Amino acid sequence: MSETNDTQRKSALVTGSSRGIGLAVASELAQAGYNVCLNCSSERGLAALQEHADALAARYGVQTLAVAASVGNADEASALVSVAHKAFGRLDVLVNNAGITHDGLMVRMKEEDFDNVINVNLKGTFLCCKAAGQIMMKQRYGRIINMSSISGIGGNAGQVNYAASKAGVIGLTKTIARELAARGVTANAVAPGFIATDMTDALSEKQREAIGAQIPLKRFGRAADVAHLVRFLASEEAGYITGQVICVDGGLAL
Ligand code: NAP
Repeated sequence: MSETNDTQRKSALVTGSSRGIGLAVASELAQAGYNVCLNCSSERGLAALQEHADALAARYGVQTLAVAASVGNADEASALVSVAHKAFGRLDVLVNNAGITHDGLMVRMKEEDFDNVINVNLKGTFLCCKAAGQIMMKQRYGRIINMSSISGIGGNAGQVNYAASKAGVIGLTKTIARELAARGVTANAVAPGFIATDMTDALSEKQREAIGAQIPLKRFGRAADVAHLVRFLASEEAGYITGQVICVDGGLAL
């Protein structure tokens, strides 16, 4: 763990924060003064994750932690939440950002590609919410922010597994918002459109241009565009917002 000695700070766990939106969120929360636990899927990525964690601690003077755990695995998800909670002495914010794609048309999609995407994107979100929800209920304070997608709202050809997982995240978020509200815990979903990260790097230049032309704001989003919203939803000021799905998509889903 990268150290500063301050257990009064609020703390956050951001799953899937080795790059892209997750790393931007971890950075935004560290800048806002949270102690932050970063996460990647396996030990292979841990050295690089630790470097990001150390850099944020040095830059913003907060405590950071780097933990390898695959969120779709019940034991690993539970250990991840527990390690973050114990290290910081409290857990105020959970951002379920870890996500994968295995795109393909429905008639050709392999069962394992469907299962893997549901397992990480939807079940992983459930497992982390369950572990963190228990802590936050006792604390009588918490902010849960789940990464959905505009694919989960309107569907997207070639993403039957991904769109189903992200639609599931919305149903899950609304349900836990109802279940946890009386204990001071809010839960909201963020639905990004097309954000420039490794995930969208898979698109060809031609696809990128065609999509860009459909977006009212005429550009792909930046990871920071999503992170700014997450920072607000994580704050005390957002305490009267729960069960919502907020798009960060340049107007694409209008
Ligand atoms: P990304 O660049 O591909 O990064 C994905 C992150 O998730 C990485 O840190 C990866 O860690 C982590 N991850 C993957 N499987 C994991 C697992 N089993 N356990 C823990 N961590 C795991 O993706 P992104 O574009 O930043 O997307 C972040 C989130 O936003 C995802 O939920 C995605 O579905 C959603 N989203 C993205 C877009 C977009 O346009 N980019 C649009 C809508 C929604 P490793 O380094 O270990 O692989």
